[in-house]
Amino acid sequence: MDRAAVVKVGAAASASVCAVVGGVALAQYIVAKKKRAGKKTRIIEMMPQFEKPTVHMRNPERVEQIICGLIKGGASKLQIITDFDMTLSKFLVNGKRCPTCHNIIDNCKLVTEECRQKLLQLRNKYYPIEIDPQLTMEEKYPFMVEWYFKSHTLLVEQRLEKDKLPEVVRESDVALREGFEQFFDRLHQHNVPVFIFSAGLGDVLEEILLQARVYHPNIKVVSNFMDFDENGVLRGFKGELIHVYNKHDGALRNTEYFKQLKENSNIILLGDSMGDLSMADGVPNVENILKIGFLNDKVEERLDKYLDSYDIVLVKDETLEVPNAILQKVL
Ligand code: C5P
Ligand code: MG
Repeated sequence: MDRAAVVKVGAAASASVCAVVGGVALAQYIVAKKKRAGKKTRIIEMMPQFEKPTVHMRNPERVEQIICGLIKGGASKLQIITDFDMTLSKFLVNGKRCPTCHNIIDNCKLVTEECRQKLLQLRNKYYPIEIDPQLTMEEKYPFMVEWYFKSHTLLVEQRLEKDKLPEVVRESDVALREGFEQFFDRLHQHNVPVFIFSAGLGDVLEEILLQARVYHPNIKVVSNFMDFDENGVLRGFKGELIHVYNKHDGALRNTEYFKQLKENSNIILLGDSMGDLSMADGVPNVENILKIGFLNDKVEERLDKYLDSYDIVLVKDETLEVPNAILQKVL
């Protein structure tokens, strides 16, 4: 081929490359434009955390609307109502189950081997009932009462000492979800009230927060607190039992707290159980509520129900990235 022919072929080739590149760019532009025009979920689109495969939503437009309401209200209108076990704490680390507040005690050295076995048997019987997708909450309710009654009776028999709790928590495998410092610190910084409503063990929960250095003064913990005798030995539990499926009357039992927060009409609710959905029932003056659910276990069987009830469902997501991204926009 002579020089002129080579130049000609080269020019034609580069022209076709240009055409292809230009065509691709144009197509991308049109798709992006169409996408922008067709979707109303702009704030969500601005948060890359929502692109993770762990994030599921039945109705992204509704989520968008609620987040807009939260942003409009800002820090002064916001309050957080959250569960603790398997919501703020991790469910799995390296494929291994993390302990609940109860499990920290069940597995600690203060409990005899015989008692540990009995607690494990109870767990093997009642935990599958707790998460059974075929049973209604009403059907599960009496079983939960039975589980708590039996396990708390066993714990009292062990004459646990209050002084030993910090060591027991330190030696446990409990872990808070990735991003917990940012979560608690930002809420503290903006003075947003945080109501931790847990069917776990209050004393253990508080010790976890203290050791993680995030038990800030904007946090209120409502949970099952141990009652110790004058020698610091466990003799029972204070107040009415909180179990996984009686959280609906939490606001009624804490009227003073919620009355003080009647201007905080925007709520972010975090939970991992269907029972957690009712944690804000009876809270006066709710304007916007965003319900975020962690679905940790029996995912396939439960995803549909979770999507019906939680606005955002985080499937096997051991982080607080999504709540943190939302808080970053709101605060
Ligand atoms: O903080 P939260 O409300 O999630 O605490 C309740 C959790 O404690 C439930 O997930 C339940 O499985 C667990 N539990 C336990 N041992 C008991 C009673 C409850 O691990 N004896
Ligand atoms: Mg929980």
